[in-house]
Amino acid sequence: MKIKSVKFEKTYYRYFEPFTISLGTHEDQENIEVRIELEDGTVGYGEASTLFVISGETVDIMMQVEKTVQEMILDEHVESYGKLFSRLQQLRATPAIKAAVEYAIIDAFCKRFGIKPYQFFGGATNYVETDLTVGIMDLEKTLKKVKKIYSDGFRKIKIKVGKNFKEDIERVVESKKIAPDAVFIVDANQGFTPKQAIEFAKALHSERVEVVVYEQPVNRHDVEGLKLVRFNSPYPVAADESVFTRYDALKLIKEEAVDFINIKLMKSGISDALAIVHLAQSSNVQLMIGCMGESSLGITQSIHFAAGTGAFAYHDLDAHLSLNEKVFRGDFKQEGPHIYLT
Ligand code: MN
Repeated sequence: MKIKSVKFEKTYYRYFEPFTISLGTHEDQENIEVRIELEDGTVGYGEASTLFVISGETVDIMMQVEKTVQEMILDEHVESYGKLFSRLQQLRATPAIKAAVEYAIIDAFCKRFGIKPYQFFGGATNYVETDLTVGIMDLEKTLKKVKKIYSDGFRKIKIKVGKNFKEDIERVVESKKIAPDAVFIVDANQGFTPKQAIEFAKALHSERVEVVVYEQPVNRHDVEGLKLVRFNSPYPVAADESVFTRYDALKLIKEEAVDFINIKLMKSGISDALAIVHLAQSSNVQLMIGCMGESSLGITQSIHFAAGTGAFAYHDLDAHLSLNEKVFRGDFKQEGPHIYLT
């Protein structure tokens, strides 16, 4: 069944409250909806979402490649998706749009043949439990937010750090006290030097905070620094910004620099995300899955991928909960941290 049309359209959302990480603050989010139509009228959707500070990708840059993508996949058979994915690998500078186009192809393929995307990815399960993320904010606001999250049933809480060493320690330690049964993911977004990162982890550990993943403590290019933190901190260290492609993952695995890799479809696209899953499963590395600023449409992609592969120890799929989305576009039901594909 041939692909008849491919269209990109910009979408716009505001965050309910400014979202701050060590790299900057975001108040709104522009994404792109990708729509692929087959010649029998079947329509597949994908969403591209980028944070410029992470990927160096903008919606305007992504819109620029619409014509290139059309030339790559129009009039091609959706059944030959592997061939199309190989061509789309050329979209190196726009990983989020690559992800959205790949997913829209899969979505159309699955609708055409009457299966769900999570079944396409392996059908391991149709359920994931997500964490919820607390951006960088003052202690009082942090605790108010953690209290709310905890009472909503979340038992995996992610806290952004990496901006103010002392305040950040206090924010995590005090959060732990009001969320006693929760485990924590701590994400510095490259905000620390290796020395600070080790000191930070030891400080939390001495207060008995259970950190299950310590994300990207140091600069994305500092492989030796990651490794140093890995072997000198009590917590499992994850690469996030350090890993976009399968080659990034292979390098860190070879160097034994990380315990975890945080896969985001928006950094890797579908084919590289699958390759990274296989690399991790072939080595001693665990996986979490994260997101950028996706609406319910884009989060759906990652839920299908995560549930279908069943490859992830932790799911950080919460961006849609922070956006003022007027129309819900997901094909999932959510009760607190529990997400079920319908
Ligand atoms: Mn991260």
